Amino acid sequence: MVKIDPVEKSVENRFLSTLNKIPESHWKGATFEWHYSLNPLGIYHGLGPHGRYDDKNDIVKLRNTPQLQRRTIVHEIGHRVYNKVLTPAEREKWEKASVNEAPRMRQWGIEYFLPEELFAELYADMFLPKTSLVSLGRLESSTQTVFREIVKSHEQNLSTY
Ligand SMILES: [Zn+2]
Repeated sequence: MVKIDPVEKSVENRFLSTLNKIPESHWKGATFEWHYSLNPLGIYHGLGPHGRYDDKNDIVKLRNTPQLQRRTIVHEIGHRVYNKVLTPAEREKWEKASVNEAPRMRQWGIEYFLPEELFAELYADMFLPKTSLVSLGRLESSTQTVFREIVKSHEQNLSTY
């Protein structure tokens, strides 16, 4: 992976103004990295997704491209919130609450349940309404309630929100 520095000005401005829409405690402490490509397989398979979150190292990786969407930035921070801000009990609560609505993926005969993916997309919907692939308002109301409660509980002790 190639790290590009400095980031293109238009991309940097979009990034900074997007961070302003999100509680600081949700991204503070994370490292943001800019990449030309996020495809681990290399150029034969294109440049890969526009964003990726590395939870082991707490790094939000973003493509340094003018096509980078605000939604992608917020979605990746949603993955960060899921892994670093939520408590294990909250993740468990979310897994149970989203069991009927989270996407499932089949790979090599194994079905994966993706509650974290739904969380990240709903997180984008919460902070950037109408840009997301999933809208919070379309979920079962009990699922909406659990989501809002979990996110809200981490907004209360903020100084800059
Ligand atoms: Zn995702």
